[in-house]
Amino acid sequence: MKPGRRRFLKSMAVLPGAAAVPDAQAQTTPSRDVYRELGIRPLINAAGTYTYLSASLMPRPVVEAIESASRRYVNLGELQGAVGRKISALIGCEAAIVTAGAASALLLATAACVAGKDKEKIARLPDTTGMKNEVILPKGHRNGYDHAIRNAGVKLVEAETAADVARLAGERTAMLAYFNVHDVDGKIRVDEYAALGKKLGIPTLIDAAADIPPVENYSRFLKMGYDLAAFSGGKVLRGPQCSGMLLGRKDLIEAAAANNNPQTDSVGRTSKVGKEEIVGLWAALEYFVKQDPAAMWKEWERRCATIAAQAASVAGVKAEQFVPVTANAVPHLKVTWDGAAVGLTPGDAVRKLREGDPRIEVRATLADGVEFGVWMLEPGEDEIVGRRLRDVLRKA
Ligand SMILES: *Cc1c(COP(=O)(O)O)cnc(C)c1O
Repeated sequence: MKPGRRRFLKSMAVLPGAAAVPDAQAQTTPSRDVYRELGIRPLINAAGTYTYLSASLMPRPVVEAIESASRRYVNLGELQGAVGRKISALIGCEAAIVTAGAASALLLATAACVAGKDKEKIARLPDTTGMKNEVILPKGHRNGYDHAIRNAGVKLVEAETAADVARLAGERTAMLAYFNVHDVDGKIRVDEYAALGKKLGIPTLIDAAADIPPVENYSRFLKMGYDLAAFSGGKVLRGPQCSGMLLGRKDLIEAAAANNNPQTDSVGRTSKVGKEEIVGLWAALEYFVKQDPAAMWKEWERRCATIAAQAASVAGVKAEQFVPVTANAVPHLKVTWDGAAVGLTPGDAVRKLREGDPRIEVRATLADGVEFGVWMLEPGEDEIVGRRLRDVLRKA
């Protein structure tokens, strides 16, 4: 291809993203359609950043950074170090490491607190005999992701109050863990827990995987006093689906790295990140912090309003925007209806949206309606979802 033509195509590729909404993904025409070749029917993601729906789409600058990374060999340790320094500077934290999702960040944080940089201990995990091998977490915080912590070979100990934490903490305690999404379910508040860790001299970890926006949260919990914070790379950040970050204290991040790939004999070896994820995460963060949060918010509200208007045009149907308190705290849409009047169950509506063309996935099926997540929609898809929903409700 002539250089002139390549430059022309390249400028064409960036134009739609620049002109449209701030987070427009604006995929260029791909050279092949892998999903067609595989017989997989892609979907419109009106659900959210769910792993089973492949979570998010990477913006062009991220894909281009990965493409660039894919062309040369590098020393992976050097790359983690360099990207860690870039991420730390962008966020304003002491140190950072790219992990295989937030789940791997939880595992590596725990391994760091249990085995540190001790080669013999690192090799022995998840056998924690003779090591600090208990992790305290507030009662109400148990959830599927604590499996990632347990993978390091520790026992979880639940504490209901601050006094319980102080009583249960001892020489076996390796770490205090907090799941921010469960802040409302426990009796110990997020800032109080960080202070407890400081007072007891035990490292604290917060899982804030889905707690962006606001972008300030990347540093907020560390400023609050947490030693380590785990975030997803493949959620609203729209980095590689299998990327994440562990941020925090330099000595603990170094210990996390010692328990991670490329070290073969370590618990982190089974959650490898390659140069593509490491560079892709950095590029995604660089792109994300440049976005205008107010413009993004307005765009998400506009999408809610578009779908709401179509839904509410059907008699007996109501639509309202809501924002979850923690985790994915962005505008969502709840559409409810009188089942008897409309003649359709929410389950049937979800099935029709899924089986129709294009296939549409929603966030949740309620007793009296359906919830939509709009922040992962591509430009124009809000219109499609609105029309399809209206048709499904009308035909019933
Ligand atoms: C999504 C999520 C995780 C896991 O994040 P990955 O990046 O998919 O590994 C962990 N904790 C919470 C609270 C989450 O929402």
